[in-house]
This record gives sequence, C-alpha cells and structure tokens, in this order.
Amino acid sequence: MRPTPQSCYISSQMPQILDGNRVRDDIKTELKPRVEAVTAAGAPPGLAVVLVGNNPASEIYVRNKIKACRDLGIYSESITPPGTISTEELLSLVKNLNARPEIDGILVQLPLPPHVDTKRILLAVAPAKDVDGFHPCNVGNLVAALPGPRACTPAGILELLKRYRIPVAGKRAVVVGRSDIVGKPVAMLLLHEHATVTICHSKTADLPAVCREADILVAAMGRPAMITGDYMKQGVTVIDVGTNRLDSREEVARIFRNSPEKLAVYDKKGSVLVGDVHPLDVVEKSSAYTPVPGGVGPLTIAMLMVNTVASAERRAGIC
Ligand code: NAP
Repeated sequence: MRPTPQSCYISSQMPQILDGNRVRDDIKTELKPRVEAVTAAGAPPGLAVVLVGNNPASEIYVRNKIKACRDLGIYSESITPPGTISTEELLSLVKNLNARPEIDGILVQLPLPPHVDTKRILLAVAPAKDVDGFHPCNVGNLVAALPGPRACTPAGILELLKRYRIPVAGKRAVVVGRSDIVGKPVAMLLLHEHATVTICHSKTADLPAVCREADILVAAMGRPAMITGDYMKQGVTVIDVGTNRLDSREEVARIFRNSPEKLAVYDKKGSVLVGDVHPLDVVEKSSAYTPVPGGVGPLTIAMLMVNTVASAERRAGIC
C-alpha cells in the first residue's frame, strides 16, 4: 500500500467519523499510476464479473464494480448467464475465464441460485485470479499471513483503521458475526495486527458484556441497529459493516427517535439504510465510528480494484 498523508484524516472533533468515501477516493487516486504502469508494461488489468440471473441488488453491485473499473482504466467484462444455468455450465464458464491471460480477476457475484453449488463454483476460480479472496487457498494464505488477495470488506476495514491511525496492536477487538466473507477474515486481519480478538455469534452468552470489553468493535450481523449504547464502552472505535434497509416508517421513527430528517428521507425514498449499530447511541459512546452509509461500504469495491491491480502486477512481473 502506498504511503498516504495520514495526518489529514485526523480531526480534533469527537467522535471521529471514519469516512469511507474519502478513503476510497484516496485508494483510487493511488491506484491510477499503478494501472498506468501495468498497462504500459503491456498487461492492462482485466476483471470479469459473473452475474447469474436477475437479482436487482446484485445488478446494482455489479454496475458499481464495472463503473469503478471504468473510472480507473481497468478493462472489465460482465458475463450474465441466465438463472437457469447449471453448476456444470457455470464451472465451464469459470474455467474458460481462468484460461484467459488478459483476465486478472474473476468475481462471481453471490448469491447464486439455490440449484447451483456455490462452493464448487468458488473452488473453481483460479486462486491467482480470486480477487474476492474467498478461495480456500487464499483463506489459507490469510491464516498463514502469506501474500494473496484478502477478502475485500475486511481488507477495507483494516485500510480504514490504518489511515485514521486507530491503534490496533494490544487492543481488545470484538467482532460480532462469524461469516466467511466478513467476520472470520476481519478477525484474522485484526489478529495479524496484534489485537486480542474475540469472535461472537448468535450463540454468544451475554453479548453486551463481551462487546463492552472492546476497544474496537466490529458489527457484522445484518441486524438493524442491534448494537445499542449498552454494548459499547465509552471511547470505543466502532466499525459498522451492517447494511440494512428499513422499509417501515414506524421502524425508522423508532430507531432514529423521530428524526425529521430521516423521516423525510423515508417519505421520499420509501426506505432508509441503517447499520447493525444504533446510529444515535454510537455518537454518544464512541470515539470514532463508521457511518452507514458512507463508512465500510465504499471500501469493498475499492479493495476489489486493489486486488485486481495487484493480480495484474504479478502477471506483468512488476511486483
Ligand atoms: P451472515 O453471513 O448472515 O452472517 C451473520 C453473522 O452474524 C453470523 O455469524 C450470525 O451468527 C451472526 N448473528 C446474527 N444474528 C446475531 C445476533 N443476534 N447476535 C450475535 N450474532 C448474530 O452476514 P454477512 O454476510 O457477514 O453480513 C453481515 C452484514 O454485513 C449484513 O448486513 C451485510 O449486508 C453486511 N455486509 C456489508 C458489506 C459492505 O460492503 N458494507 C459487505 C458484506 C456484508 P451465527 O453464525 O451463529 O448464525
């Protein structure tokens, strides 16, 4: 990762808002010369995104990924087989992408239709092109602290902590959620940065008490505003990975305590986004936090771009 003018992220205001849009923009600015260098070396980075069927949310994610590629001058290709595609057909499509030298990264947008064997598909992606960092080889690389693509959302969280100079070594980190794409990899990355890490899940006893031990609290459960002030010690750094859409006016009024601003957003759009952390309590209790939207979300695509460019650099023999 290129050096950054990190001091510009430091603010005297409390709590500090950890601005994912700003970090994303800086990451993209730093990536541009790297894209130019590999392109000049005759190996322009290329990303293939496979989007199966018609899932509106996935379509938006994929559109944003393709747009990020375009902004950076990365070649991108979106492949959109119908939702009826079989596991075997999808495997052959992935194998075909594995064999194409101009494709540095392959991303299979999840979720796949229920009749498709997701594990077999993810296993079929060549580890060197696995820009999502989901292949067991790359999970092994992560655990062993060996080089390799890291899962994008967890890598973005670590990038955010570094750039805001949030101390991690020696701190107590509590991660709520143990998914393969967020909870487990972010816990491992925090461990590699010498935090003392606790991973929690739906069976954790007395979750609020465990969370109150955290200097760094990562919430990744998909439960709207569940982490209230009772889960936070004063001064904690809170990373809210959750992205939940509230589509009931009553729920918006309850969670945002009748905020006229949020109710106006709901009345205009018919929904309001909220994280897994209570958006008002976090302002009272934390010393720094990621807002939703605009915190962790923007970093996921930025780190996908980083992984794609790093893969192209390896192919070009630049790093
Ligand atoms: P997931 O696969 O559904 O995993 C959820 C985890 O939370 C599970 O480990 C589950 O425990 C735990 N959990 C659920 N309810 C809980 C409770 N009441 N108390 C304690 N733990 C509980 O979710 P995910 O894919 O990791 O995503 C989590 C959230 O992050 C979602 O809102 C998702 O939309 C968001 N997300 C955002 C980004 C981004 O770019 N911003 C990227 C990925 C995900 P068990 O294992 O015991 O079931």
